[in-house]
Amino acid sequence: MKSCPPLERLIEVPFRRPVVLREIGDREAAAKAKDIDLTVGYQGEPGAYGEVAAAAHGGIPRGFASFEKLLEALRDGDIDEAVLPMENAVVGAITEALEPFAAFVGEGLELVAVAITSVPVRLSLAARPGTPLAAVKRAWSHPAALRQCTHRLAQMGIERVVCYDTAGAAQIVAHDASTDAAVCSRRAAERYGLEVLVEDVSDKEQNGTRFVHLRMADHARAQVSLAFLRTSSMTATGRLDVLTGATLLPLAGTAEYPVRMWVLGADAARLQALAPVRDVQVISLGQPAAHAAKITPPKQGTEPVVKSLPHATARRAPTVVEVGPLRLGAGARAVIAGPCSVESPEQVMRIAREVASCGATALRGGIFKPRTNPYAFQGHGLEALDWLVSAGKANGLPVVTEVMAVDHVKPVAEKADVLQIGARNMQNFDLLRAVGRAGRPVLLKRGAGSTVDEWLGAAEYIMAAGELRVILCERGIRTFETATRNTLDVGGMLAARPLTHLPIIADPSHAAGRADLVEGLARAAWSAGADGLIVEVHDDPARALSDAEQALVPMRFAELARNLALRPDARLPLAQLRAWVDAIDHDLGVLVQRRLEVAKVIGDSKRQTGRAVLDPRREAAVRRTYQEALPGNKLLADKLVDLLLEAAKAQQSIDE
Ligand code: PEP
Ligand code: MN
Repeated sequence: MKSCPPLERLIEVPFRRPVVLREIGDREAAAKAKDIDLTVGYQGEPGAYGEVAAAAHGGIPRGFASFEKLLEALRDGDIDEAVLPMENAVVGAITEALEPFAAFVGEGLELVAVAITSVPVRLSLAARPGTPLAAVKRAWSHPAALRQCTHRLAQMGIERVVCYDTAGAAQIVAHDASTDAAVCSRRAAERYGLEVLVEDVSDKEQNGTRFVHLRMADHARAQVSLAFLRTSSMTATGRLDVLTGATLLPLAGTAEYPVRMWVLGADAARLQALAPVRDVQVISLGQPAAHAAKITPPKQGTEPVVKSLPHATARRAPTVVEVGPLRLGAGARAVIAGPCSVESPEQVMRIAREVASCGATALRGGIFKPRTNPYAFQGHGLEALDWLVSAGKANGLPVVTEVMAVDHVKPVAEKADVLQIGARNMQNFDLLRAVGRAGRPVLLKRGAGSTVDEWLGAAEYIMAAGELRVILCERGIRTFETATRNTLDVGGMLAARPLTHLPIIADPSHAAGRADLVEGLARAAWSAGADGLIVEVHDDPARALSDAEQALVPMRFAELARNLALRPDARLPLAQLRAWVDAIDHDLGVLVQRRLEVAKVIGDSKRQTGRAVLDPRREAAVRRTYQEALPGNKLLADKLVDLLLEAAKAQQSIDE
């Protein structure tokens, strides 16, 4: 492997300082440092723009004669990373690279996109020293580069001759005793002793190429949304226009798939949901959203039910609703907890303290209660709002409370942080419009008898009125089952996921109606990728004025919070904090045991197939995984890997 010249020297003369731009994939300094000893393959000869991209993150560039050879090398583990040009400012999609890329992915090569690098392109026309410009009749270059200079070359009466690389063209011209020229970078021209005749022959002034950095899926995590889409149905992509923000790089159609394209920068689940007819294949190479991979797309062959909801179902990046320490959406997950009803200043203060110390980041509590029986406790009204807000303030928690009437919206919005619309009011359209104008985020419960699209329609009312910070909450729907108060519709929650960018949380308390089922339902929703939970907690359920049967006592809530990996604070009793640590230690032990078991299976399989059990590349990948999981703690990461290796050796099962 040859060493790489410093970046400054790789950059074209007109750009004095390194101007390689990293657009997506903000890998941190730690991750960057780790890239230094990686071999990064590119297509072309030294001096090609691919080399600049390959060196952009500090890797060691290695050139390949074709994109096929480059991808083969990545597949076979000869290089750690490959860079491929995807898009050029002048000619758009670089099909020369995108076609072989699509072929490899179509054949099942599991790649992930880890970064995008923009490289400024200055294509110069260069010939052997002493050649007058007027004598140049032919120019050699890579077809993608020649396409970027179509008009300028035509104006000069120069014919285009295709070869495999820009730097390779310079090499050909240098070795040929003709007056032919090369279209290449100044650096490549100088490298092969050519003289630059025209500084920049691109048809566009601000020329540049975007390269994607690819790794094998088992060696890295995806950081960039990239997918390949193909379909036999010409009408299937009719809705792609709604993919605002995504870059579409179309390829030529084939008999089997008349429509084929690369899609850069679109959420994979949304892309799946776009497929309104049969036969749309989406091969995703990356999904940065934390839980997007778990999302089930709607059944193929069915159209998404929700149409024409421009706010709630807009194709855009996930919405994050943030109120103080409460953050929901785009991978941020949180738990809202508190009593069903605010009963007294003391009651809500005590419970607020309990839930805050367990890691809840918002306090719930009803001041107006929608009760089935008109003689049941109706809530203490606006007076209780002050108790709730004081309890929240004292514990650093924003407060969530339900509004039932249009008249209440203004006074409640003056003090509460989030307004809740209860299940019974989900289609109270006047109320939806009123909360939409109140200037506060809205937590919108799904009606017990409402469909997913009615729920999204209700969100649209709020958003159309002006409030875009809507949190959808699945709280159980009414089914024939009477063993539970409602049926938590995890399927409906999942079905809503690809249709909307809004955060979706679950309320296991109202779904269950029984304290003993709350934890199980909470964990089910959490595992299914809910952006958060809202849970009822009471420190004396027997005396609770509403929903006594479903309230978790603080100890049980603490157990749930521990299981969800919330962060406890020092106000928890020492015994409880110790219980959290003990539970984590137990889980760690179980995971280590499981890792050893799987490693043994891998080791045995390698032995059976005659492959080397020890693989230094694999060990390096494992080290990277631990370093990523333990940011800023490389020493511990390495020590853990050392220990695991030792244990694996002891049981003769090494998989590294
Ligand atoms: C509540 O959250 O207290 C409540 C009444 O919920 P829902 O509207 O879901 O029944
Ligand atoms: Mn309740």
